[in-house]
Amino acid sequence: MRVLLVEDDEPVAESLRRGLLRYGFEVAWVTTGEAALGHEEPYDVVLLDLGLPDTDGLDVCKALRERGNVPIIVISARSDETDRVVGLELGADDYVSKPFGVREVIARIRAVMRRAQPRTEAAAGPDRYGSRLTIDRKAARVRLDGAEVALAPKEYDLLSFLTEEPGALMSREQIMEAVWDANWFGPTKTLDVHVAALRRKLAGAITIEAVRGVGFRLEIARDSSAS
Ligand code: CA
Repeated sequence: MRVLLVEDDEPVAESLRRGLLRYGFEVAWVTTGEAALGHEEPYDVVLLDLGLPDTDGLDVCKALRERGNVPIIVISARSDETDRVVGLELGADDYVSKPFGVREVIARIRAVMRRAQPRTEAAAGPDRYGSRLTIDRKAARVRLDGAEVALAPKEYDLLSFLTEEPGALMSREQIMEAVWDANWFGPTKTLDVHVAALRRKLAGAITIEAVRGVGFRLEIARDSSAS
């Protein structure tokens, strides 16, 4: 997923950029409103600071929204409630106040992307992964070749998390935080047990590669019968 980051504050932008890269996002970083509006590479979501050196971020928000429906998340140091309301009225999809954590920003990106899906996809049904696996996130149901797979609640949560960004390397810490507990410091053996269960139950549809010393990477199995 490609993120256009519009932020003139270098330390803020750098830490956000590094955090997003770590989670598998691609990041294009610009520091002015003019550069944001002139950016020509395609992107999937915009993170837009309101306090820019050349223009008011709210004007950039309005201009971006007039051009299309790419999701916009406004980030601001202004604690003013009016900014939030005006930003949303001008077409922003969500809003985060500084200071914020990378995880919070990522959660919001995922949420706005999920909401944005129906705009571009004709049918908002279960998510398809390759030819064999579907995940119905509303009903929390997983099907393999059309047959429902019985997963324990944490197995489902783990699969749901890892399939948000197929191919992205997730560290053990990120997974433990997201799936088990926000403040997990203990051993992560339970994670290995759940990974093993998913590999067994979804064999052939996905692979979960262990990256030694780091974490795991889920890949969707390629179609073997491409006809
Ligand atoms: Ca700023």
